Amino acid sequence: NKIVIAIDGYSGCGKSSTAKAVAKDLGYTYIDSGAMYRAATLHFLNNFLSPANPHDVEKGLKSLEISFHLNPDTLKQETYLNGLNVENEIRTMRISNKVSEIATIAGIRKELVAQQQRLGKKKGVVMDGRDIGSVVFPNADLKVFMTADLDTRAVRRQEELLEKGELVDLEDIRTNLAERDRVDSSRAESPLKKMPDAVEVDTSNITFAEQVGKIVHAARQ
Ligand code: C5P
Repeated sequence: NKIVIAIDGYSGCGKSSTAKAVAKDLGYTYIDSGAMYRAATLHFLNNFLSPANPHDVEKGLKSLEISFHLNPDTLKQETYLNGLNVENEIRTMRISNKVSEIATIAGIRKELVAQQQRLGKKKGVVMDGRDIGSVVFPNADLKVFMTADLDTRAVRRQEELLEKGELVDLEDIRTNLAERDRVDSSRAESPLKKMPDAVEVDTSNITFAEQVGKIVHAARQ
């Protein structure tokens, strides 16, 4: 069995929900690295800190404490920022529209990568993000690269946001996904790319159960 599973890919192709289901199937711990960049973004916005200002970055990182806790009612893992539950707030468009800019800053990545590597010391981990197979766990036992058509991704994301009570225009979601893909793939610091040893899973035309099944199968090889 594969002990560390790295799932990378474009925005909104179902990495988190897939990674969660894979972790559950295998009895592994799921870690959402994107939630950490999102929580950092909320922290910078809340404190009027600019990611472009090195002093602000230093200040922001010093006062940033991110953790994950299981909600006893839903049994879902939720993100906490400095002791406060921010799970819903970090998924809003306000954060989605700012997060990739924060994620281009080398100092911020360095700190979050170190935290992710510490969290990954537990044996049996599924982590999803953009640089998990390339930077966080270059020696992962299994690397997956997920893709899907932009239109499919936008429709799925719109449904997800609606379930959480946020009605967003499809075009705005498309623009956000495309823009994050562009920034994430072209940044100087650990750009998003498919690693040569990653298994590619295109989720455009397969069901959720199928995409989970493919990865669980690869993990059991
Ligand atoms: O995974 P999610 O879409 O929640 O990630 C939000 C953003 O955080 C991404 O668009 C990307 O800019 C950044 N991110 C990253 N590296 C990761 C995970 C997320 O740069 N490992």
